[in-house]
Amino acid sequence: MNQIAPQPGIMEIALYQGGKASVEGVSNVIKLSSNENPFGPSEAAQEAVRRAAREMHRYPSTDHAELRAAIAEVHGLDARQIICGVGSDEIIHFLCQAYAGPGDEVIHTEHGFAMYRISALAAGATPVEVPEQERVTDVDAILAAAGPKTKLVFLANPNNPTGTMIGLAEIERLAEGLPPQAILVLDGAYAEYVEGYDGGAALAGSRSNVVMTRTFSKLYGLGGMRVGWGYGSQEIIDVLNRIRGPFNLSTVALAAAEAAIRDTAYVERCRSENTRLRNWLAEALAEHGVPSDASTANFVLARFGSPEEAAACDAFLQSEGLIVRRVAGYNLPAALRITVGDEPSCRRVAHVIGRFKAGER
Ligand code: PMP
Repeated sequence: MNQIAPQPGIMEIALYQGGKASVEGVSNVIKLSSNENPFGPSEAAQEAVRRAAREMHRYPSTDHAELRAAIAEVHGLDARQIICGVGSDEIIHFLCQAYAGPGDEVIHTEHGFAMYRISALAAGATPVEVPEQERVTDVDAILAAAGPKTKLVFLANPNNPTGTMIGLAEIERLAEGLPPQAILVLDGAYAEYVEGYDGGAALAGSRSNVVMTRTFSKLYGLGGMRVGWGYGSQEIIDVLNRIRGPFNLSTVALAAAEAAIRDTAYVERCRSENTRLRNWLAEALAEHGVPSDASTANFVLARFGSPEEAAACDAFLQSEGLIVRRVAGYNLPAALRITVGDEPSCRRVAHVIGRFKAGER
């Protein structure tokens, strides 16, 4: 018998399936599968990377003081309550490692982001899936599921892959109603896309049981740099820092993120362009008989009549050089998640789906 075995729970983890980047035999593909910013990072971020690369022989900052100061300044937060990680994925991971273990429960919603379950299992804890209401977070269902074993509740708002979100009053009701040992993690990976929404920052600043996570991978166009951050009470941030590797972020990644967050005009332009194109795409799909939920993020969840139809449409799109995301693994087998691209990409994907719905296969 093999004596070498991983910790319990590890083999229950299904390998994370990222968005495809290529299709065999098809060149010049349009990738609309990973919710990336089609306009890329700002010029300022690119220039900062070129400058920082000259320092690549030096170890990076261990405390990320400059990036935390920039985040704090732009968002009006206390820099001492911020921690930076290798994408917000790493912050999610730290939270599970630090606060959940064998016998503990980690709640996530029915169509919630895959990393919540993965990180919970990696920590030896038990993930608990809570149903949504028509693809919208159901606060009452979460409160009913939470009990003495609940340590963490992950809630993406806006949610991926549904694109839906709930209001701050509902989130506050959730934070208020959770058992005292549980932390509510508000995942704001897509918060920047919602005009006037603070991602739950004020709540995380005022309540000791709320942590907000954010990322530079989406609106800031820095998915390849891997920078995310968390905001919460100083006590929680101190705990997370104890398990953080001292050099978790590279010099170039730190420089890119700092320049990106300070370029508020670019952020504004990307946000408004996304809103315009998202609304256009949702309407164009609806005209072709493909409904979607009211998305608040940079993608649209296109719903088909059956899992077979969604799979057939995905195959047709691929044959036409368009990569979107199957979300069967998110319990949404009859849907395709389409990232809002630039205008030609949006027009192209809508046009090809129109041809598919008109019977072309
Ligand atoms: N949360 C949500 C809801 C996401 O969709 C993603 C990226 N797909 C992440 C967190 C993680 O993003 P990153 O690690 O790139 O910051």
